[in-house]
This record gives sequence, structure tokens and C-alpha cells, in this order.
Amino acid sequence: MAFPITRLRRLRRTPALRRMARETRLSPSDFIYPLFVCPGRGVARPVGSMPGVFQHSVDRVVEVCRETAAEGVPAVLLFGLPETKDDVGSSSWADDGIVQQALKAIKAAVPELVLIVDVCFCEYTAHGHCGVLTAAGEVANDPTLDNLARQAVSLAAAGADVIAPSDMMDGRVGRIRRGLDEAGFEQIPILSYAAKFASAFYGPFREAAESAPAFGDRRSYQMDPANGREALREVGLDVEEGADLLMVKPALPYLDVLREVRQRFDHPLVAYQVSGEYSMIRAAAERGWIDYERVLMESLLSIRRAGADLVITYGARDAARLLRKGWQE
Ligand SMILES: [Zn+2]
Repeated sequence: MAFPITRLRRLRRTPALRRMARETRLSPSDFIYPLFVCPGRGVARPVGSMPGVFQHSVDRVVEVCRETAAEGVPAVLLFGLPETKDDVGSSSWADDGIVQQALKAIKAAVPELVLIVDVCFCEYTAHGHCGVLTAAGEVANDPTLDNLARQAVSLAAAGADVIAPSDMMDGRVGRIRRGLDEAGFEQIPILSYAAKFASAFYGPFREAAESAPAFGDRRSYQMDPANGREALREVGLDVEEGADLLMVKPALPYLDVLREVRQRFDHPLVAYQVSGEYSMIRAAAERGWIDYERVLMESLLSIRRAGADLVITYGARDAARLLRKGWQE
């Protein structure tokens, strides 16, 4: 029925009617908060390119986790800044590695918080690539797989609740699954960075995680931003290999991919609102060009509307606080 019978404005007339007719909602339980753990004590070092984001020492990260859980955010995603780097990234599987220390301390202090760990090598290798290199300087796929499994087992042993491989090697979900199962961690789920694009939106993260590659780029393993159909093949393979949760990264520039993955797969779906997405909002807000809170909430709502169940976001705590204060658009 067309106008004048149908008037869509009828349900937009008051805040109460709009709330009633709203299709997508946000809740603090939709968010995962990323954290960067560094050596030392009492350290809270601001990341210049990401206002509001810090590198925290273990003692400080425990406090942040306590606050995050109290704000209703159910999970954090941990990245480590190790004391030492080498060619293979061996500090990533050390029993006293930086993330291992953080896991033990957070588990003891905030047992209800879900601890997701990023599994990769770019923060741990001297060359900054996500695996071991061949003599020609290429990232070698298969030798990296055993190291990934080793890192995953070490993190599970230290108390990780979810293993999240971000390296984009072929076959890594299957290899990590086997490694976890053989070590008795068959109950630990894998959140696969299933469709991870070689994105320029990761720029600020490299300062936060001190993980910029020393040479070249990551385009031989991360996905070409032009490829939507290939993303579905990537996701399909990770599903076959045993991924429990799926991720699309970045989020806002890839909402079409998120929607396609949602339609094809029934797994819990996670989107990563990456550093560049967050910092663009913060930077424009600092200049007075946009409203940080409103744009943050609209971006998160859009990501959920496209099909994500959960959003990894540096704005997780800000969004949770706004929602608890009764945020309504
Ligand atoms: Zn990496």
C-alpha cells in the first residue's frame, strides 16, 4: 500500500515509538576490548596514534581488566609486546612470555572475564612478519604452522579461554586444532581471523603493537581488499578445519563481506573495528568535525546490523559506559 495509506514516519514520531520499532540493538555484552601488554611495572604508555589506548604492564592490565568486566564487557583480546624478538618469534611460546604472564595474573584477579589471545608472530619476530622466512625472504607457510600450534598450546596452558590466530597462513586452524587437542586442550575454542584483509586501516595498530614489518608488506598472506568471493572461500576452509568462531577484519569498509559470511555460515560472527577505523573517528572528533560518541555508536550499530554478533573495538569501554547510562539515538 502506497502513500497516503502507508506512512513510514508514523513509527518515527517519538523516541518511544522509535525504540519499539528498532531492529538492531547494542549491549555491552556485544563487545570485545583489545589490550596491549608490555614489560615493566606501573606502565601505562599512551599510543600516540590512538587516543585513549595504552600499552600496559601486567599489573596495570589487570586493573584495566577489572574495570572492563565491571562495565559489562565480557571479553578482552590480548596482544603482547615482548622483551626480546628473534627470527622465529620464540618469545611468543615462552612459559614466562609477556602474554602468558598477563593471562595468569588476569585469570587470578578477574576469573569471569573471557581471555582471548591473538596468535601470530609479527609482534615477536625481529623482521616483523607473521611467520618464519625462507632464505629468499618470503614467509614460509608450512614451517610457520608448527610454531603457531606451539604458541597456541603455551597460551592455553597459561589460561587463555579462546585462541585467535591472525597470521593468515593456509591450514593454520587445522594445525592449531590438532596441537591443542594433542596437548589436552580440546575444550579450548578457536576464533579464526577468517577473512583478514591486507588493509591500510591497520596503520595505528603497528605503533600500538610495535609490529610494523621491517621490509615489504603482508600482501602475500593477508587478503586482497578487492576480493569478496575469495573471502568466502577463506571462511569456508577455516570452518572445515574446525574454527568455532569466525572473524572479518577490518569491519566498516567490509560490511558486504560481513553480510555474506552471515548469510552463508551459522557460526558466531565477530567483526574487528580496527585501529584506523577508531582513530579516524577520534581524530575527526578532536577537530570538532564529528561527535565521537554518536559516530562510535552508529559505526558499531552498522557492524551489528550487517551481521556481526560481536565487535572487537577500542571503543568497547566507551560504548559500554554510554549504554549503561541509557544511551538512545
Ligand atoms: Zn601478524
